Amino acid sequence: MPRTAYLDWNATAPVRAEVAAAMTEALARCGNPSSVHRFGRAARQALEAARAHVAALIGAAPAEIVFTSGGTEANQLALHGVAGRRLLVSALEHDSVRQAASAATLIPATEAGIVDLAALERLLAAERRPTLVSLMLANNETGALQPVAEAAKLAHAHGALLHCDAVQAAGKIPVEMRALGADLLSLSAHKLGGPQGVGALAIADGVALTALRTGGGQERGRRAGTENLPGIVGFGLACRIAVDRLGDYAGVARLRDWAERRLAEIAPEAPIYARHVARLPNTLAIGMPGVPASTQVMALDLAGVMVSAGAACSSGKVRRSAVLEAMGVPAEAAESAVRISLGWSTEEAEIDQLVEAWGALHARSRANAA
Ligand code: PLP
Repeated sequence: MPRTAYLDWNATAPVRAEVAAAMTEALARCGNPSSVHRFGRAARQALEAARAHVAALIGAAPAEIVFTSGGTEANQLALHGVAGRRLLVSALEHDSVRQAASAATLIPATEAGIVDLAALERLLAAERRPTLVSLMLANNETGALQPVAEAAKLAHAHGALLHCDAVQAAGKIPVEMRALGADLLSLSAHKLGGPQGVGALAIADGVALTALRTGGGQERGRRAGTENLPGIVGFGLACRIAVDRLGDYAGVARLRDWAERRLAEIAPEAPIYARHVARLPNTLAIGMPGVPASTQVMALDLAGVMVSAGAACSSGKVRRSAVLEAMGVPAEAAESAVRISLGWSTEEAEIDQLVEAWGALHARSRANAA
């Protein structure tokens, strides 16, 4: 078996050991946070401590945090919970936003990989009715950082609200809900060292939201159902650690840049997407012209290197990336794009392994083409 290099952190990050330990401990305890007896009160205390850590990650107040089953549910709660508004959604959004908002108007993107603010302004001005704008903070495929604060200013000037999907940004770069001007902000635990299946929607004080799940009055009536306490405890601790360890991403960026330089030396013709705008420190989207992304992912996997196709859906099938399409990347080029994403424990040896495997595949493809 080859050594392995896990370079698919934007798909999911490993659960931090401290998080797994805290979750195991939480699982061993019995208590429903809604019960009034001592076990219930202890569970409530653990829930509220986690809420405070999640809030602190984004500079929100704990009361603004509603726990969900992940980023997807947080996005859907934001988009469907503010019922009756026109939806303006960036063309770069994750499927969980795009599909939640099937009746939405798409805000186009620039070739550089960021949302077109002038187009947003035109769309806002075109119709004077209650509107919700949805713009992610960092794109999951290219890592391109989006001008959320500017978009929020435009939205507010037109009386609209702004939802920000910060799932990929949180824990990798500083995220301040108020500085961004976000009225609603989505988070997911498994992208930052917490477990899969837990997330949160931050709802700024004063923003009215209708619950999508009704039943018990949990989460102050905004999301019914007994809370996933072990998951939430893990999420809270992962957020606390993420705040402390944000500085680690300077090293991650150096490794990503090193990988990028080495791949570009091997294949100067390879397009690197969103290269000219500010990006997440860990993400690299690169094409190998003429080699389908699925072939690259499989060949790299055989060499022990795990990356994603530019757009892999949950079934693992590769389909054309809507993000690259929105950036005006021709279909053939988009079909040969892979996403390489690093994290806090990525080592130089993993980059060496990537470069070796990617370089070998590139050499084979050149030889076949000759
Ligand atoms: N938003 C973005 C930008 C994502 O990258 C993802 C997951 O890949 C999600 C939302 C969905 O989050 P979850 O997997 O927690 O449902």
